[in-house]
Amino acid sequence: MSCMKVTVIGSWGAYPEKGEATSCYLVETQTEKWLLDCGSGALSCLPEFVRLEEIDRIFISHRHTDHTADAGAFVYSRLVAQALGSTDRPVHIYAPAEERAWLNSIVKEKAAVAHTYESGDSWMIDDVTWSFHRTAHPVPCWALRLEENNAALCYTADAVYDESLVNFASGASLLIAEASFYEDQPAADYGHMTSTEAGRLAEKAGAQELWLTHFPHFGNRSDLVMEAEKVYRGNVSTAEKGKSKRIG
Ligand SMILES: [Zn+2]
Ligand SMILES: [Zn+2]
Repeated sequence: MSCMKVTVIGSWGAYPEKGEATSCYLVETQTEKWLLDCGSGALSCLPEFVRLEEIDRIFISHRHTDHTADAGAFVYSRLVAQALGSTDRPVHIYAPAEERAWLNSIVKEKAAVAHTYESGDSWMIDDVTWSFHRTAHPVPCWALRLEENNAALCYTADAVYDESLVNFASGASLLIAEASFYEDQPAADYGHMTSTEAGRLAEKAGAQELWLTHFPHFGNRSDLVMEAEKVYRGNVSTAEKGKSKRIG
């Protein structure tokens, strides 16, 4: 029986620290390799884990640069790979329907295929069901749930805490939730969640494990974990680069 494997490529919010990247996660299915977001620094970190020409699909949660900065560069890497004959396959890129113009601006014929999604879409790709949930964020943004054989990976992308996320993340084997701020900071004013809210989301959703991500560039990350642990009884840790887990 197949199962997905997820690996953290980048987990910083806003901009990457030295040698690291903003939002980017590698998902390996039985036969394909996908990226969830393609933030700043992703392309220089990815070769530590995978060859760029092996990536089949890229999910883009929203247009903020800490989730998209390297998407255009990725398409160029595929153009070069095709020219060199190391692959003839295009990369499929999925972005919110509202961002069709942006998506068209980065897609180069034959190197990439553009797809858009909207609320309510649910697709089966390589035996994995993709479902999307609109989050509360300053620009159109979607959380993604990947489900296979009753095991689920749920990625919040960027989101203000709200109860509708609880249902979407329900029973997730692994919840990757943004925690851009520490407890008692006004995360919602900036379109984000605190560590405590990420913990509450995991607890209410009954998630089996929680990875905190979209790190702030201030404070001490271990405090994020401690704060989430106050409200979540499951296993919680930060989504450090290179960390991986099999789902299911
Ligand atoms: Zn972000
Ligand atoms: Zn954002």
